[in-house]
Amino acid sequence: MTTQRETLEADVLIVGAGPAGLSCALHLSNLISKHNQSGGKPVLSTENIYVLEKGRELGAHQLSGAIMDPRGLSELVPDFEKTAPLDTPVTDDAAFLLTSQSAFRFPITPPPFKNKGNYVVSLSKLTKWLGGQVEKSGVNLFTAFAGASLIYEGEGIAGVITDDKGVDKNGKPKSNFTAGYELRAKVTVLAEGARGSLTKQLVSRYKLDNLNPQTYGIGVKELWEVPDGRIQPGFVAHTLGWPMPTEIYGGGWIYGMQNKRVSIGLVVGLEYTDPFFDPHEAFQKFKTHPFLRHILGGGKLVRYGAKTIPEGGWYSMPRTYVDGGLIIGDSASFLDSQKLKGIHLAIKSGMLAAETTFEALCKGDTSAKTLAAFPRRVEESWAKKQLWSVRNFHQGFQYGLYGGLFHAAFQQISGGRGLVDPMHVHAGPEAYQKLNGRRAPAERFKGDGKLTFDRLTDVYHSGTRHDDDEPCHLVVSDPSICADQCVREYGNPCQYFCPAAVYEMTAERGENKLKINAANCVHCKTCDIMDPYQIINWVVPEGGGGPNYEGM
Ligand code: SF4
Repeated sequence: MTTQRETLEADVLIVGAGPAGLSCALHLSNLISKHNQSGGKPVLSTENIYVLEKGRELGAHQLSGAIMDPRGLSELVPDFEKTAPLDTPVTDDAAFLLTSQSAFRFPITPPPFKNKGNYVVSLSKLTKWLGGQVEKSGVNLFTAFAGASLIYEGEGIAGVITDDKGVDKNGKPKSNFTAGYELRAKVTVLAEGARGSLTKQLVSRYKLDNLNPQTYGIGVKELWEVPDGRIQPGFVAHTLGWPMPTEIYGGGWIYGMQNKRVSIGLVVGLEYTDPFFDPHEAFQKFKTHPFLRHILGGGKLVRYGAKTIPEGGWYSMPRTYVDGGLIIGDSASFLDSQKLKGIHLAIKSGMLAAETTFEALCKGDTSAKTLAAFPRRVEESWAKKQLWSVRNFHQGFQYGLYGGLFHAAFQQISGGRGLVDPMHVHAGPEAYQKLNGRRAPAERFKGDGKLTFDRLTDVYHSGTRHDDDEPCHLVVSDPSICADQCVREYGNPCQYFCPAAVYEMTAERGENKLKINAANCVHCKTCDIMDPYQIINWVVPEGGGGPNYEGM
């Protein structure tokens, strides 16, 4: 049966209300207002800009460490310091090398860890604030609406179909069924964050990949409230070493915030070889280090979250334009892979996309030829300069921590070139080594319930909510592979890499079966990336489902 859909038409449709999408919307509406005030033709309307956000409210799905370099925001909102919810300026920065019992502070903070002039922020709060500016400018912003599929037209795109609401777990309409809209637009801007589900379709359909496939890390984070005097607001520390094995890229962070809050987290490169490696467990171990125990002891967990980070950099940036479409922000690899900072680059990419879109609307030509001005703008901007200087950084770490540091030293003195340029990498899951008889760990990590937690306790603190009676948004194309081949070859790594205990192998009448607890999903996208057979497809659940990263 074909679903009857209402069609809505917009000039510009932005999918994703994160820093990239909202900056695009705000800058575009500013350009339109100036253009109309000066009598420019054709007259454009900010009401013809639509923004879709799958979270139940603005900021609900926004997660980052987060330290923000203000360069992007100061261009977008020059007086941002007056009203933006900046938690605290960075007052001191440090880098530590951890062994299991000791922490050695580097006598001089290495340049990538220097953060003076930056701000510690809650990305969720910042996004909410930015969304408020966007709404005030007349743009139509819809929360709890997800872009479910793209509308293809010719060699490009012409909008999206939004999620159907009120569908039961068997795919049948419930009494509250509402068909998704057909949202058509002259320009559709994909700003979905890391591993966007529509971006993935677009990149694959038009073969937009760059020299390297995108590579990712996963960041696992907790927000804590600690007793007085444990850490200064604005003190930020980054760690290398324990508990990460030297062959895995990764490190920790500890950021002091206002009101006795601390942001702590661990980033793990998603290209490790051991299918039993568990990033959530590694993060829990990280907190047991005496250095962290001293800060967190007696405190309480406030919130939890996890998300993937595009670490591939410049050589993993897909082609960012097609007829009627642009890709920006994390979806397009706008992230400094050395500093692991992307908010300012996401904002800049949104602004450059807005300028390109504005020009296209004025010309009445939104073809790929016109939208190709976007990458040209990027080339001429400071964003390119920053991304170019670290273009080979993450690739160096495919040889482990010491190999990575060795390459990084040469890249530092050669403006990013290093010993090999461009340095190639494989997609993360290609690194898995087969078990060859190795058995799964006898016990899963449980945590002590005070300092360390199991995954379900953490999921509870993520505010995650999905309707139990809706189609599973984790689509496994061939579950028989999970039940047989994957058990033997890799021991079902989904049970270990998922930071929300979604995947579980059960034995029913002697047969292995994959159970998917989709309601726990925190939308990190790790499964879509790290499944060894690439048979898991993360699709959008009903809009409004997912975590609530309020204050994170
Ligand atoms: Fe992340 Fe996938 Fe687990 Fe959801 S199911 S939390 S996207 S790994």
